[in-house]
Amino acid sequence: MKILVLGGAGYIGSHTVSELIDAGDEVVIADNLETGHIEAVHSQAAFYQGDIRDRAFVDSVFEKEKIDGVIHFAANSLVGESMKNPLKYYDNNLYGTKVLLESMVAHGVDKIVFSSTAATYGEPESIPILESDRTEPTNPYGETKLSMEKMMKWTGVAHGLRYVALRYFNACGAHVNGHIGEAHNPETHLIPLILQVPNGQRKAISIYGDDYDTKDGTCVRDYIHVTDLAQAHILAMKYLMEGNESNVFNLGNGIGFTVKEVIETARKVTGHPIPAEITPRRGGDPAKLIASSDKAKKILGWNPQHADLEEIIRTAWNWHKNHPNGYAQ
Ligand code: UDP
Repeated sequence: MKILVLGGAGYIGSHTVSELIDAGDEVVIADNLETGHIEAVHSQAAFYQGDIRDRAFVDSVFEKEKIDGVIHFAANSLVGESMKNPLKYYDNNLYGTKVLLESMVAHGVDKIVFSSTAATYGEPESIPILESDRTEPTNPYGETKLSMEKMMKWTGVAHGLRYVALRYFNACGAHVNGHIGEAHNPETHLIPLILQVPNGQRKAISIYGDDYDTKDGTCVRDYIHVTDLAQAHILAMKYLMEGNESNVFNLGNGIGFTVKEVIETARKVTGHPIPAEITPRRGGDPAKLIASSDKAKKILGWNPQHADLEEIIRTAWNWHKNHPNGYAQ
């Protein structure tokens, strides 16, 4: 199969490309390299640099390559940034997806797997979160991802396109080979920020609030290894190739860890004391997000292989200690 991976130079995109190539698929990457890294582009993939909002660019890729299915990661994904600059998210995430879908319909490409998010739920009505639960995003990032899901649904009704939306919980870790990993600038995610302390780039980690209604007062999240996420995309594409209907799946381990527990595990993995300080809450953070991924396990046959938090942090540390400045070195 020949798979077009949009955003294949980014964090989850590059790990998915690696798994696709290991599985024997042909991969074409398109990425504007705004947040992706040329160094993360797999040497065995064809690469086109361009933007999904550019219809002529997207058309040219479908005209040059005979694409069987699309995996779509090309989006902005920071909650805080989306609160400050919502229209950036409507432009890239929604308008970009609109252009992509128009081009797919025009070229007869009718299968797409794409990154959605736990942020589509907003404040959960119950834990663990089911796909059928209420979706009421509390920020423009989650709102645009939910709208992307709906755009695919109605495009499907009109044009026969089928999609799988994968609602990720907290993506983390790095490839076990140590060649690709997480590299955001600026970094906002908990695990890479914690690891900046033993890397000598930060004196202490801030804990954003310890007065939540959780076992130690800090927020609870469901941390899922990036390679397990990558595998889910391959299974979702197979599911569509087999003729199944459009669907939505949560991807998490179903286990919640508090911020303090994550820091404690990082201390164990790195052997560094990692000082922590309590700072005020960050706006828009729900107290507890834990996935039920039973649906993905049952329907896709998904079976996460790196569920242990210590192992997840070990893979992240292996990447960050050898790439303290990400790909820029
Ligand atoms: N967090 C924190 N300190 C940091 C960064 C994050 O306490 O320096 C907390 C954040 O409030 C959340 C959890 O860690 O409860 C995970 O945050 P992250 O940004 O990694 O992912 P999110 O859950 O926002 O997608």
